[in-house]
Amino acid sequence: DAKHSGRGAARLFDEVMDESIRFRRRIEGGLAQSIAREELSMAYQPIVAREGLEIVGFEALLRWNTAEFGPVSPGLFIPIAEESNLIHELGDWVLDQSLAVLKDWPGQYVSVNFSPRQFRRQNFVAHIVERVQRAGVEPRRVQIEITETAIFDDADHAAETLYRLRQMGFRIALDDFGTGYSSLYNIRMFALDSLKIDKSFIDGMGRERESAAIVHSIVHLGRSLGLGVIAEGVETEAQVQALRLAGASHLQGFYFAHPMTAEDARELAHQRFIAGEDDTADEPGTG
Ligand code: C2E
Ligand code: MG
Ligand code: MG
Ligand code: MG
Repeated sequence: DAKHSGRGAARLFDEVMDESIRFRRRIEGGLAQSIAREELSMAYQPIVAREGLEIVGFEALLRWNTAEFGPVSPGLFIPIAEESNLIHELGDWVLDQSLAVLKDWPGQYVSVNFSPRQFRRQNFVAHIVERVQRAGVEPRRVQIEITETAIFDDADHAAETLYRLRQMGFRIALDDFGTGYSSLYNIRMFALDSLKIDKSFIDGMGRERESAAIVHSIVHLGRSLGLGVIAEGVETEAQVQALRLAGASHLQGFYFAHPMTAEDARELAHQRFIAGEDDTADEPGTG
């Protein structure tokens, strides 16, 4: 009867919850060991200028390959790290790795992702500056990628933090732009260099009028505020054409290159320009 099936559903729900909590615990436990076990690595994906396809920088993307689970996507483990203090340890590791590769590149910047929790950490600025100085890196060669979520919850504090970083010469990019809470109006308060248009809008460009319209308004907004506009997740020639027409200043995506090892990034950095590649190649290590 209804009462029994209700109870069954509740039990099933509990089991599913237990299972997912157990899963999270295992991921968390694995992550806590990941540095010591040398399971982490970085991949770097070029960001190119719309005209001429000069490589201006590389986005640094964390990779975790475990004996237990195989390669785990950052889309899965970053949110779990973010809910514990592990994100700080992982983030420091990512930053140090990313700073270390700069000496191998002729002049490009490295674009590093920071989660909201990292960004809101006390002394975030001092923390970054210390590591950047220790690495002997000029701040203009470091781009800090943060999401709208990181800045809009405490906008005044965030505005102050970004201002200080920008004063010191760091580049600031607002990542996954268009998916968060920012009103187009409010982004004026933040010291930014670039907006990164979220891949979901780039995907939709050829299919729906809405996505194309959003891409056009973001580009327009960025340009009128004097910001660069980076389109991420560019996969096709048609998207490249559409984004050129729309006026995006920079492009990033599988169409140009997949995220690659530091060694491959170094080689590409020295070529300085990129030729469009087809998107059939696979990223090393993730099959
Ligand atoms: P994100 O910062 O928006 O990074 C872009 C994601 O899109 C990357 O996924 C990249 O591999 C992928 N991508 C780039 N071009 C294409 C394309 O043409 N097609 C498709 N389908 N995907 C493309 P990834 O490496 O799996 O990272 C996912 C997210 O995990 C990142 O999104 C970022 O939010 C987070 N993440 C990655 N590394 C780090 C890190 O070191 N620290 C922090 N805090 N977050 C990170
Ligand atoms: Mg990013
Ligand atoms: Mg992004
Ligand atoms: Mg994204």
